[in-house]
Amino acid sequence: MRYTTQFMLSALAAEQFPGTTVPEIAFLGRSNVGKSSLLNALVGEKAAKVSQTPGRTRAINFFLLCDDKNRARLAFADLPGYGYAKISKSISAEWPKFIDPYLAERETLKLCVCLVDSNIPPQPNDGKLVDWLRHVGRGFIVVATKTDRLSGNARTRNLLAIKNAFDLDEVLAVSAKTGAGLKDLWTRIESADSEEAS
Ligand code: GDP
Repeated sequence: MRYTTQFMLSALAAEQFPGTTVPEIAFLGRSNVGKSSLLNALVGEKAAKVSQTPGRTRAINFFLLCDDKNRARLAFADLPGYGYAKISKSISAEWPKFIDPYLAERETLKLCVCLVDSNIPPQPNDGKLVDWLRHVGRGFIVVATKTDRLSGNARTRNLLAIKNAFDLDEVLAVSAKTGAGLKDLWTRIESADSEEAS
């Protein structure tokens, strides 16, 4: 389906989360993982630009996706990138306080898309995030980014390493650059409502 995407708001506190009722998909990942590029490839440049606007990089940026009859169908939540620092008490010491409750309690949140860079070894803070999502019973999918940079063998090896390190049944390989894997990701996003939390 083709959607038109509009920016809703940037939230810096739980009271500011939108009152939307459509299924919401959250995008998470370390800074530089390729989150803006992926959002850009999924829904267009506007979303990625908004999310990179200074002051909005530490907010949750919400977008509404409407179908061709202008009916709201989905919401996307672009979460702040977490850093290279070791994750401490909460998922990331650098994350604003409202992020953990968002992930744990947001009722309309149907799927977390956790981005990991396929070009580097599995990162402990990505593992912490996955463990935490499991702990709170939140449905998630791990998506390996920038797979166009790898040859077939290296890609297979790295994807397997990610799968093993985070104890996953599946890792979805994507490239914002070539568009590889995006169709599969859309399928997962559009069926998120019916395959909620494992
Ligand atoms: P963010 O910080 O997570 O939003 O990451 P960006 O989307 O800004 O991407 C970080 C860097 O990775 C940029 O230099 C991008 O051009 C590059 N990048 C992102 N996605 C891809 C991809 O699919 N393939 C390749 N080759 N590079 C990518």
